[in-house]
Order: sequence, then structure tokens, then C-alpha cells
Amino acid sequence: MPPRKSNLNNCDECKKDVGSEDKALVCCVCEKWFHINCQRVTLEDYKFLAKSDDSIQWYCKGCRGASLKLFKMLTLVSKRQD
Ligand SMILES: [Zn+2]
Ligand SMILES: [Zn+2]
Repeated sequence: MPPRKSNLNNCDECKKDVGSEDKALVCCVCEKWFHINCQRVTLEDYKFLAKSDDSIQWYCKGCRGASLKLFKMLTLVSKRQD
């Protein structure tokens, strides 16, 4: 059976470990970890997101693309309703 020891997360971009010293974010959609450098998140953005540690609303590149499409669709729909 697979060992369930303390979760060492891997960055889904570079596949390397995300250590506690690393600056990394977890995507709130796919729940994968990414180094901020791997996702081109600025240090300012990271600090801002890390402050609101309770509900980090951060999307990785892949999920952001998907949600942007959804967002555009929603705005289209709401425009139509006006
Ligand atoms: Zn990485
Ligand atoms: Zn994601």
C-alpha cells in the first residue's frame, strides 16, 4: 500500500519538490502546487495572496485560461439578459 507520510508536494510545472522554504501557491481549482517562479507570479502578488491564507483564490495558468473562457461566456450571457 502507498505510504501516506507528510505530503511532500511537487510543483506541477517543474516536478520538483515544494519545500516549506519555497515560495509556492496551490491552485484553488486543480489543487496542484506551483512555484511562483514557475508560474511567473510576482513576489508582490505572492505576498498579497499569502496574507489571505484562509481563502487563497489563485489559479494556475491552465485553470486561469479555462476560467477566463468561462468568465467571457458569463459576461456574454449577462449582456444578453440586459
Ligand atoms: Zn516549479
Ligand atoms: Zn489549476
